[in-house]
Amino acid sequence: MAADLKGRVALVTGANRGIGFALCRRLGQEGMTVVLASRDQSRGEEAAAKLCEEGLNVVARQLDVTDHASVDAAARWLEATYGRLDVLVNNAGIMPNKASVLEATLEDAEAMWQVNALAPWRVCRGFVPLMLQGEWGRIVNVSSEAGRFDRINAVATAYRVSKAALNAYTKSLASELHPKGVLVNAVCPGWVASDMGGPDASRSLEQGSDSIFWAIALEDDGPTGGFYQDGKPMPW
Ligand code: NAP
Repeated sequence: MAADLKGRVALVTGANRGIGFALCRRLGQEGMTVVLASRDQSRGEEAAAKLCEEGLNVVARQLDVTDHASVDAAARWLEATYGRLDVLVNNAGIMPNKASVLEATLEDAEAMWQVNALAPWRVCRGFVPLMLQGEWGRIVNVSSEAGRFDRINAVATAYRVSKAALNAYTKSLASELHPKGVLVNAVCPGWVASDMGGPDASRSLEQGSDSIFWAIALEDDGPTGGFYQDGKPMPW
C-alpha cells in the first residue's frame, strides 16, 4: 500500500520542464498541492498554467537552487502561505557537457557541483526546518546511475562526481532525519527523453517521474537512506 498524499504539500525544483514537470502532474493527480519551482518565474507560471488547466492544484514559485537568497525567500513564502511542507524533490540538475576527466575544465566541474550536489544541500537547509514541524516528510534527491561507483569511467566526469556526492549527502541526511519521521532517498529516473536525456532515450518523462514517485508514496515504515530506480535498490 502507498501513503495517502491527498492534501499534502509538495515542492519540486527545476520543474518548469522535463522530469520535474511530469512529476508535478503526477503529484497533482494524487490530490496534492504542488509548488512548481523554477529559476525563471515566467517559465514556471507557463508550466503551472498547463497543469491548472487540467484541474490540478499547482502553483509556480521562483527558486534558483544556486542562489541562497532565492531559496530563503521561497522557504519563507512557503511557510507563510501553507505553513507546511510534506514532500521535497531536489530535481533541478544540469549536464552541459560530457567532457572526459582530462578534458573537463574546473569551470565545468564547479557548475555541475553547484547545481547537482551543493544546491540540494542548500535547498534542504532552507526547507527541512518547516518539514520537521509536521513530523512527517519525504525527500527525494534525483540522482543518476552515472554516479554509481561501479559504473564510473572517464566520460562525463564532472556530472558523475556531482551525483556521487549527492548520493553521499542523501545517506547522511537520511540518517539524521529518520528518527524525525522523514524518509530520504536518492532515485535514478533512468535514461529519460527530456532535454537532458535527448530524443533517443529509452524512457518517457512519465516513466522517469514514476520512478521518483515511488519514493514519495512510501509508507511510514518504508526504506530511507537508499538509492533506487523503479522501486528497486541500486548499488551506490
Ligand atoms: P532537463 O529537461 O534538462 O530539466 C532540468 C531542469 O532543471 C530545468 O527545469 C532547469 O530549468 C532546471 N534547473 C537547472 N538549473 C537550475 C537552477 N540553478 N535552479 C533551478 N532550476 C534549475 O533535465 P531532466 O532530464 O528533466 O533532469 C531532471 C533530473 O533528473 C536532473 O537532476 C538530472 O540530473 C536527473 N537525471 C536525468 C536523466 C535523463 O536521462 N534525463 C538521467 C538520470 C538523472 P531551466 O528551464 O530554467 O533551465
